[in-house]
Amino acid sequence: MTGTAMNNDRISAIDLAQNVRSNVTTAADVVEQHLARIAERDGEIHAFNLVLADEARARAVEIDEMISAGRDPGPLAGVPVALKDNMCTQGIPTTCSSKILADWRPPYDATVVTRLRDAGAIFVGKTNLDEFAMGSSTENSAFGPTKNPLDTTRVPGGSSGGSAAAVAADFAPISFGSDTGGSIRQPAALCGVVGVKPTYGAVSRLGLIAFGSSLDQIGPFTHTVADAAVALETISGHDPGDSTSIQQGPLDLSRTLELGVAGLRVGRITDLPTGASPDVEQRIEEAFDALRAAGAEIVDVEVPAFSYGLTAYYLIAPAEASSNLARFDGVRFGMRTAAPDTNQMYMATRTEGFGDEVKRRIMLGTYALSAGYYDAYYGRAQKVRRLIANDFAVAYEKVDVLLTPASPTVAFEMGDKASDPLAMYLCDTYTIPSNLTGHPGMSVPFGTGDHGLPVGVQVLAPALKDDVMFQVGAALERSAPPRSAGSGEGSAS
Ligand code: GLN
Repeated sequence: MTGTAMNNDRISAIDLAQNVRSNVTTAADVVEQHLARIAERDGEIHAFNLVLADEARARAVEIDEMISAGRDPGPLAGVPVALKDNMCTQGIPTTCSSKILADWRPPYDATVVTRLRDAGAIFVGKTNLDEFAMGSSTENSAFGPTKNPLDTTRVPGGSSGGSAAAVAADFAPISFGSDTGGSIRQPAALCGVVGVKPTYGAVSRLGLIAFGSSLDQIGPFTHTVADAAVALETISGHDPGDSTSIQQGPLDLSRTLELGVAGLRVGRITDLPTGASPDVEQRIEEAFDALRAAGAEIVDVEVPAFSYGLTAYYLIAPAEASSNLARFDGVRFGMRTAAPDTNQMYMATRTEGFGDEVKRRIMLGTYALSAGYYDAYYGRAQKVRRLIANDFAVAYEKVDVLLTPASPTVAFEMGDKASDPLAMYLCDTYTIPSNLTGHPGMSVPFGTGDHGLPVGVQVLAPALKDDVMFQVGAALERSAPPRSAGSGEGSAS
């Protein structure tokens, strides 16, 4: 087996920015180190669709000049950042890992891109994803799969697999993904990094190419909970350009990290859907034990409608996707396949431009929305969505947070589920409900499961309690067992 994950000279993004701001190192050096790692290993991993080497070097010079001139570039000064390739970057290809957008260059930057740049971050590349963020393994990319840096025979998870792999492989200390049904938390778990989906509306979706607009949120991947807090503080806060953006300032997270969990009530969902493998179940039990030992009270709760999340999601998300993806018609964006008339051009372009999974979602969604079926499918799913929210509301009267697995298993082998859509959909059993409710969720690495691969514990919290979620996440991080070496280093399987 291949590859090791740990890099002994790894420092946190916070420390890195501090070193750049205080002239201990230069942004130029930081960028060169990361570009060298990318050059060395991304041929194998394929975390990136595009490496922005020239742009990153030029930006590093600007950052260093600002510092020499006595100006502060911001809290992420000189920090290399990787962006999922579904976030618009002005003049820079933004493909959604789809043939249909292969050559498209957005005319504007996503709000998160602007905010990160204003905070001193340096973009090193656009990361690979399942086409239009539909998938859980990054095998659905039109440009080939991403491999898990901890074991290159296995998937990194998805759909933000490139972003998770970029952090796990130390190509960048911070990356960003989008999470519609688990696409940040599940790959974070599989790659052994922290991944956060904030409360819906906390981060602007302006310039995030839409999949399921009522579900999509952007969030960070990092090695540490503290870095994730700073990353999310940087990108969150009201944006008038997104009508679903919450009218409040940035999330306030870093101050909670040292508070501990004494007195907090941590919920165990007694009727959680089964399906998690024994190694994952065992780490979750240990996570409850660790929080109890740190002073939390563990409380049993029921969330009966939790198990209907997946079913409701696979009506609502495809319904929204079928509408959102109608704009890729060969006229307004990206590629066009020549045909004798306009209707045939639409059909030829979409037939050639979209991959199988995207077509499957468009068909599912169009069916669910069609006259005569709308009430039975889409309408019903929305009612289930309400039930799920109601059940969580009852549970959150008794507890501050809930703990579940982020992924039912550790990273699986490439090809394992690629021909079985249902098996792939089940990867998101534990993450999807909080997308339907708009609640925050995060995955924190917590020891090792089968094959020496990382396990992620998911912390869930009520809407706008992202700070409490981080408080618990930080406590979990402090008490996490060290991760044993990956299977490449000969540990048990
Ligand atoms: N795996 C889920 C899906 O394919 C979630 C994807 C996501 O969160 N973008 O829909």
